[in-house]
Amino acid sequence: MKRFSGLLTGVNGFLIQLLCMAFVLSGCGSSSEPVRIQGRAIGTTYSVIAYGLPKNISAEDLHKGVEQVVAEVNSVMSLFKYDSELSRFNAYRKNDWFSVSKELAGVVHTAKAVNQITEGAFDITVAPLVNLWGFGPDKRPEIIPTEAEIKEAQANVGSDKIEVRLDPPALKKLKPGITLDLAAIAKGYCVDAVSNWLKNRGISSFMVEIGGEIRTAGTKPGNLPWRIAVEKPVSMERSVQALISLSGKAMATSGDYRNYYEIDGKRYSHIIDPGTGRPISHTLVSVSVVDETCTRADAFATGLTVLGPEKGIALAKECNLSAFFIVKTPDGLSEIATGDFPQHEKMN
Ligand code: AMP
Ligand code: MG
Repeated sequence: MKRFSGLLTGVNGFLIQLLCMAFVLSGCGSSSEPVRIQGRAIGTTYSVIAYGLPKNISAEDLHKGVEQVVAEVNSVMSLFKYDSELSRFNAYRKNDWFSVSKELAGVVHTAKAVNQITEGAFDITVAPLVNLWGFGPDKRPEIIPTEAEIKEAQANVGSDKIEVRLDPPALKKLKPGITLDLAAIAKGYCVDAVSNWLKNRGISSFMVEIGGEIRTAGTKPGNLPWRIAVEKPVSMERSVQALISLSGKAMATSGDYRNYYEIDGKRYSHIIDPGTGRPISHTLVSVSVVDETCTRADAFATGLTVLGPEKGIALAKECNLSAFFIVKTPDGLSEIATGDFPQHEKMN
């Protein structure tokens, strides 16, 4: 059996991502030097590049502040921390309101909205299936589950079985066995949280990247746009598929090449179709979504990936989502952009 799970795996294989899933290319000709910081966040890595720090904020303050924001998100949304808010909610077996932070309620609210738009393809209640296929915190061995096991897990999947209240913030399970996996949206949320922290400190030119999900603000000195690369969707090398300019927006990418194992030559991806209860199996290998928030971009990138090439592209067009699809064809890879996805420079 072959396993591929990115270059920087979390201790438990959680939120496995490639560092530099999208490379940030620094601009030429800029006179002022940026502050760069990096570290670990929610099972992956983060990097921040910021220009023009206000006088009262040092690079060290920036580092400390960002570390605090990512630690807070981790303590709310990590599945691998037994005492995170999410783990405590997952362990709760009653069907009354469970008080949570406004952050967790907000993310679940967005997730439910994306679940509806993607007709169930994006579903944070997919946790039992993610575990069953060996990608969750249970560390189950990578063996193909039986039909009966899949059916049993599917009985506890469905976003209609979870209710969210924003004020006062709380979640309610309509079925006690429901558990949540926020891996497909939490990185994006964390990017937004760090970006908001930077903005609130008067920093207006920055790029935040967490496990390949990105948000930028402003432009670089000399009015240069942030240039972001969409990675070529192959697992064994890191190269650039396309380059885009991104200012004041977020981009998130999903793909079956980022975390999978192979048994008898067949690929089993970490992205699960809640409808079939099985890892996705189609020719759509990568989807990048550009949106105002990275939370939504992250959720839609996963949802469109689950939907596959025909339904995913049709939904993106219908809902005017700015997305970039890379599809495997007999001749190689083909690209389709929808909505206002930025003009991209092809690299191959
Ligand atoms: P991403 O890399 O953002 O596409 O997120 C993939 C991760 O989200 C997986 O490792 C699972 O933990 C979880 N996941 C898998 N399938 C789904 C799905 N259909 N909807 C929501 N989350 C999913
Ligand atoms: Mg995602």
